[in-house]
Amino acid sequence: MGAWMELFERVNGCTACGLCKGRTHAVPGEGDPKAALMLIGEGPGAEEDRLGRPFVGASGQLLTGMLEAIGLARGQVYIANVVKCRPPANRTPTPDEAAACLPYLRRQVALIRPKAIVLLGATAARYTLGDQVRIGRDHGQWQKRAGVWMMPTYHPSALLRDPGLKALAWQDFQSLQAKLQEIEDG
Ligand code: SF4
Repeated sequence: MGAWMELFERVNGCTACGLCKGRTHAVPGEGDPKAALMLIGEGPGAEEDRLGRPFVGASGQLLTGMLEAIGLARGQVYIANVVKCRPPANRTPTPDEAAACLPYLRRQVALIRPKAIVLLGATAARYTLGDQVRIGRDHGQWQKRAGVWMMPTYHPSALLRDPGLKALAWQDFQSLQAKLQEIEDG
């Protein structure tokens, strides 16, 4: 666990972008360090900043419920964000902030070596798959990058804002369940 301790210490003390100024806690990520599935969101919100844990507010509860609905406990997956410190008023991280923080996410992916990664929302999709991704058009579509299956889907906060999207997100999670089974079956 030395590599994880080092990573967490670096994140918790990081001042590489301006988001450090407003944080109560950095939110490095949490879950199974050997998880087959990693989920990546945008950045911490108010509750996450308060507790230092990812996806623990209303969005997190929805995400946890969706994972449980496909047979996954939170402890079986790894959850992280593009930026580890809360952007003011939950604004989208700037490209400079994302660029400053992405080495930590890349390090997490390298340590976990997940088989599948779900990108929650446009920011996560943009900084992993590229600027061309549009969630409304591309959600639920899998692509393999460097041996890892990746799928963009809606961020849970978008589902809370627009419950009409929940049925589409649920289809994506069913596709996720099938993909994980396919991976397990080899
Ligand atoms: S958001 Fe990332 S790069 Fe910016 S201060 Fe926090 S940990 Fe460092």
